[in-house]
Amino acid sequence: MPTLTINNKRIEVGAGTTILQAARSLGIEIPTLCQWDGVPPMNSCMLCVVRNAKTGQLLSSCSSQAQQDMEIETDSGDVCAARKEVLDLIVSEHLGDCEAPCSHTCPASMNIPQMMRQMYSGDLEGAAYTVTLGLVFPWTLGYVCPAPCQNPCRRKSYDETMQIRDMHRSVAEAGYSDAPELLECLPDTGKRIAVVGSAMAGMAAAWVLRKSGHACTIFEKEAKAGGKLRSLPEKDLPNGVLDAEIARVERLGVEFRYGIEVTKESLDEIQKEFDAVVVACNGVAPPSGKVFEAKEHKLNVRAVGNGKEAALLVDRYLKSMNGAAEKHLFESKIGRMEKPELEVMRSHNENREAMEPEPVADNLARNQTEAGRCLHCDCRKRTSCRLRKWCSEYGVEMRKFTAAELPEYRIIGRDGDVIFEPGKCIRCGLCVAIAKKYGEEIGLTFIGRGFDMDIRVPFDEPLERGIRESAAECIEACPTAAISWRNVEDAEHCHTTTWIEL
Ligand code: SF4
Ligand code: SF4
Ligand code: SF4
Repeated sequence: MPTLTINNKRIEVGAGTTILQAARSLGIEIPTLCQWDGVPPMNSCMLCVVRNAKTGQLLSSCSSQAQQDMEIETDSGDVCAARKEVLDLIVSEHLGDCEAPCSHTCPASMNIPQMMRQMYSGDLEGAAYTVTLGLVFPWTLGYVCPAPCQNPCRRKSYDETMQIRDMHRSVAEAGYSDAPELLECLPDTGKRIAVVGSAMAGMAAAWVLRKSGHACTIFEKEAKAGGKLRSLPEKDLPNGVLDAEIARVERLGVEFRYGIEVTKESLDEIQKEFDAVVVACNGVAPPSGKVFEAKEHKLNVRAVGNGKEAALLVDRYLKSMNGAAEKHLFESKIGRMEKPELEVMRSHNENREAMEPEPVADNLARNQTEAGRCLHCDCRKRTSCRLRKWCSEYGVEMRKFTAAELPEYRIIGRDGDVIFEPGKCIRCGLCVAIAKKYGEEIGLTFIGRGFDMDIRVPFDEPLERGIRESAAECIEACPTAAISWRNVEDAEHCHTTTWIEL
């Protein structure tokens, strides 16, 4: 029964216990990619290195057994540097988009491919949740937004861009954004926030803060909310659209106080009365202390994005997290794709049964059909990928490929329900071991060597023959989305370890 220390904590473990297991029983997390309970240590990713302080040696903790009197350090400078090097190397050949280019370009970061999937599958309540949570004013923006998200749409490089703006407009127009469930807020926090200005940024900040459980009061010098959007002609923004969406903000419980001009002087009084202030108009006061800024912007969707961001800062401040470092979120991006690659993507992702040319009169139904054209460019494990998690944790940046270096984008499908994207495979070997554990007749194997090594079904048999019984566990264990369910909603249910809330 060896006794050792890990980060100066003493522990006695059974013979044969690995350092990784010993650390876990102390509640110490060591990053891993290729470790999976139920299969022998792969020892392939080397991310789980730790340092034996007595010898100065770096050890792979998943395969090294705990020894008497070891003094293990799991997060010293050299250990972190070694892990970062491992991640840099893996990322140097990783080909995948964590986020879809459309969502990435939307200044309010709406989850566009999720909206597409929900619309196509008929989950219009879900689609309303996605568009309202993302845009706050999905109906108004459906008229006034110049749709910057439609420019980088991969479908545009293939044939025609997805009509994203029209889609969120039609969901809201049909009344789905008025569902009472959308007005649910987190329990009251007892905190009170003042928002100065009621154009898009101010109202978006108030919406997010109220949903987070804080009481919100908007001060507006005019008699109505909405700022410059009020002066748009009927042909650009029909009467009633903006009012209907402002009414939703009111129903959420945001209080509007009209006809009050907040000056530098009156701001001092407001600061005394409220726990935080969001200034969403010009010339009142610069941000400082408990005063935050939500910049209005002539691009209305940018103003909404600014309001959402300000609300998150205020929420962190109220939870006394303002000192906490901002988390870096790793982003892998493929960049430009050529038509043959887009054709591969289309053949696996498009919902072809939706492509019947028959004209559908109703705008919403037509858009639901249109949603079938989406290529679902976001990663199937965007919130649960272990590579993304550790690259975020260790501050790893994605490497930009030059055009000459860019590997070929490939997808290999299995009967339509499982897909394999070789560009996302880190060759950890888990799927090979899991297929073997299930006694698969053919299974999976490594072909080639070094950087050219690839996971394949032997004898070029189709994927379904390699992972007949073991597919679900291979998908669950795969540290990235290299092997995944085609239908991402299945994927989200399968991956229990979502680690980022988006
Ligand atoms: S596999 Fe992970 S790192 Fe790669 S694109 Fe998907 S989420 Fe990003
Ligand atoms: S095809 Fe779909 S997911 Fe891809 S960029 Fe266009 S709208 Fe976004
Ligand atoms: S496909 Fe297999 S070898 Fe590649 S990352 Fe996933 S589990 Fe590892």
